[in-house]
Order: sequence, then structure tokens, then C-alpha cells
Amino acid sequence: MSEPVIVWFRRDLRLSDQAALAAAAREGPVVPVYVLDDETPRHRAMGGASRWWLHHSLKRLDESLRAKGARLILRRGKSEQVLTELAKEIGATRIHALHHYEPWWRNAEKAVGEKLDLRLHDGNYLLPPGTVRTGSGGMYKIYTPFWRALSEHMPPPEPVRTPARIETPATWPDSDALEDWALLPVKPDWATGFAEEWTPGEDGARARVASFIDEAAAYEERRNIPSVEGTSRLSPHLHFGEVSPAYVWHRLHDAGGSVETFLKELVWRDYAQNLICQFPAYGKENGRAQFDALPWRDLREAKGDFAAWKCGMTGYPIVDAGMRELWATGWMHNRVRMIAASFLIKHLLVDWRHGEQWFWDTLVDADYASNATNWQWVAGSGVDANIFTRIMAPLTQSPKFDAGDYIRRWVPELAHIRGDAIHDPEEYGCRPAKYPAKIVEHREGRERALAAFSRIKGG
Ligand code: FAD
Repeated sequence: MSEPVIVWFRRDLRLSDQAALAAAAREGPVVPVYVLDDETPRHRAMGGASRWWLHHSLKRLDESLRAKGARLILRRGKSEQVLTELAKEIGATRIHALHHYEPWWRNAEKAVGEKLDLRLHDGNYLLPPGTVRTGSGGMYKIYTPFWRALSEHMPPPEPVRTPARIETPATWPDSDALEDWALLPVKPDWATGFAEEWTPGEDGARARVASFIDEAAAYEERRNIPSVEGTSRLSPHLHFGEVSPAYVWHRLHDAGGSVETFLKELVWRDYAQNLICQFPAYGKENGRAQFDALPWRDLREAKGDFAAWKCGMTGYPIVDAGMRELWATGWMHNRVRMIAASFLIKHLLVDWRHGEQWFWDTLVDADYASNATNWQWVAGSGVDANIFTRIMAPLTQSPKFDAGDYIRRWVPELAHIRGDAIHDPEEYGCRPAKYPAKIVEHREGRERALAAFSRIKGG
């Protein structure tokens, strides 16, 4: 029997279009492993909502592997150490994995590659970051030219087939028990609503793609309306790699109809990763250095406002609905993410990094690249970003995007309010006593933000 080969799973928890698994299966008996590594990413260790997802996704992956006679080995610790020990234990020298581009994963890949024969494959992006280049050979910083250049390379490669057979080792190495990792919340179990909303795992991801195909034609018209399910809700599945973007691209494209708007959104994911490859510290460092001097409010002073924002008690129904949807389901509609983020940054003048951290902990799709890129886009501090002085007015956005039913669903204190008053019950004189008054007036918040910005303009 030939030497066993390790497949190192990370954010690629699927069997199909999994180039690492396919390559390993061609070479010999396969030992699939997932390492729960909180040491390598340090303060970027997965947040609570992501851990909930991970638990269920690993369970599904193990079941799929078992259906093929294999299994998923679970180990905990620093990746390079765990993998080297495992390789020694089973007599393996080669390890296959998909490229991951978060700065901590790149470091880990380097360290593993120094000790073992690490073979890295593509597959978590439409194109490997760095493939599309500007005329002068640099990487793109601005989305629109990036999208145009990337489109030239489409379609992405056809998905890699799932190995029909996976040869297994004569004996399996020991594995941790998933339950012992305590990835699920217990006291309190804040994730009860998650299971109603989501089916983590490859089958759940594929079912999501299949059901979205029927809705895709209406995407352009409905994607900004939070009251309807107008978007794919594929983000956590894509983040955990339960489905590859190439698979999504091909399924949507083959279904015909106008899917360009959707594909353009999908490309934002590639774009964000392309930025991280250029600016690895984008999750904490402003893309525009002038923002380093912005006089944000001290969080000790803004503590009450920040707490009100986190728990959806700002007195702005659209913001509160979004923050409560996030808490209940681990996800928030994109339009509302923009409004809620803008409110924190501008109306409350709280540094975008605090909001980014909260999303990191509470989103099931928390993704280093996408989260940082979008927060910096909203803040205006990014290399490609909204202009800071273009301040979103939540009370205008709410009726504009017909958020009434969305608010009624997520803010039960307001569920009885009919008509336009739902967007601003205080103004209409029907704010129930248990719903807070606005924590800051729009004009006051706006002027404070503009005054702060005037201190750095042109700086
Ligand atoms: P769809 O509209 O159906 O889009 C399909 C896919 O394209 C998404 O699943 C996602 O993978 C990708 N996509 C769409 N829009 C974006 C975008 N603006 N940036 C990057 N990828 C995009 N997305 C994350 O995946 N993880 C995050 O941590 C994250 N943080 C965000 C923080 C803020 C402040 C904002 C404004 C947006 C953030 N987004 C993040 C982007 C976006 O809100 C979500 O990707 C989207 O809401 C997911 O819903 P969907 O799958 O239905 O999207």
C-alpha cells in the first residue's frame, strides 16, 4: 500500500470541486483532517456565530466522508505542529490543501511547507487573487476595473469532480470528538434562531443554490429590499467553502436569464480578497492614512451608544431591525448592513474597527476580507470607498427600500404600527413606551461627523 496523504481542510468544507481532495485521492490512502487552530489567527480566531456554523458544517463533512468509507480526523492546536505530528504518526510526507489568503493562513502555509511536502490548489475564488493585473502589472485597488478585468477571464474553470472512490488507510489515527470542542453556545444558547434559518454543510449549500436559481432573474429588482428574500443567502456557505464560487457561477450562468448583477456581487468577494493580498492588515489599518487622524469618540464616552447599537435599541427602526436580525440569525441583509454600519460610524462617530469586531463575532458569514473591505468602504477610509461626507440618512433609506415589514418582523414592539409611521414612530407620535427615543438626532449626528471629518480633510 502506498503512503497515506493528508488533506488539510479549512474554509473549504466540501467534497465536490475540492481540488485538494481530488489530488490526494489520485495518490493514495487519504487522511482528511480539520485542525481547530485558535493560536495561528490569535485575535482573529473565529467568533461565536462562526463557531456555531463550523460545528454543524464539520459534522456534515464527516458524514459525507463516511458515506465514502472515509472520515474526518479532528485535531486541535497550532496547525504546523498538529500537522507535522499527524504526518509522523501515520507515516505521511505529503499534504494537500486549498490556498487560503488571510495573512495568518499564509504564514501557516509557509510554516507547514517548510516541514512537509505541502501542495496548494486553487478553488475558493473565481480566480486566484493576483491573477488579474493592471496594465502596469500591479494589482487592482478599485472594484470596477477589477470586475472588468476579471470578467475577461470568465467562465471560471469547470468544477473538479468529486472522487468516486477514496482509498482509506489501514488504520485511522485518533480524532477528537466534535462535542468536546464546545463550539456551540450553551448558557445562554443564543443560537436557537440560527437552526431555523440555516442548514450548514454542502447539501444545504447546494439546496440554497438550487432554490436561488428560480429567484435569480428578480435579483436586480429585489436585492435591496430587506422585507423580501431577494438575495441568495449563500454568504456563509461560500465563506466556509461548502460550495465553490465556480460552481455557483456555472449553475447560475447555465440557468440562463440576466444574472450579471448577481455575478457582479459575487465578484466583490474576489475583489475583497484581492485587497487583502495587497493590504494584509486591512482589518485594522485604514486604507487611507488621513483617516488615522480622525477624532473618533472615545469608546468610554460612547459606551452607552455602542451598546444600544449592538442590541438594536437606537430608536432608528431600520438600524434596530438589522441589529436584531443579526443577533437572532447571525446574518443581516446587505442594504441594512450598510445603513447600520454607516449609523455607527457617522451618527455615533464610533471607529469602524469596533463595528467590524462586533460583526466578526456575530456574523455566520464573518469573513476577514469581506468584512474589512465593506466596513472601510462605508467608513470612507478604504482604498476604494464611499465618500465620508455622503452620510446615509436611515429615516430616508427605510421608506426608500420599503423596509416596513422587515421592521415589523424584527422589532416586535413596533409590529402593530401601520403605514409610514413604522419608519419613524417618534416623529409620528406613536412610539411605544418600551421602544427607545432616538439616541441622537439625525442632524446632530450628521453635523458632528462632518465636523470631525473637516479636521482631517486633505490631511
Ligand atoms: P448576494 O447578494 O446573494 O450575493 C452573492 C454572494 O456574493 C454573497 O454570498 C457574497 O459571497 C458575495 N457578496 C455580495 N456582496 C458582497 C460584498 N459587498 N462584499 C463581499 N462579497 C459580497 N459579506 C461576507 O461574506 N462576510 C462579511 O463578513 C461581510 N461583512 C460585511 C460588513 C458590512 C459593513 C457590509 C456593508 C457588508 C458585508 N458583507 C460581508 C457583504 C454582504 O453584505 C454580504 O456578502 C451579503 O449580504 C450576503 O448575502 P447574500 O449571500 O444573500 O448575498
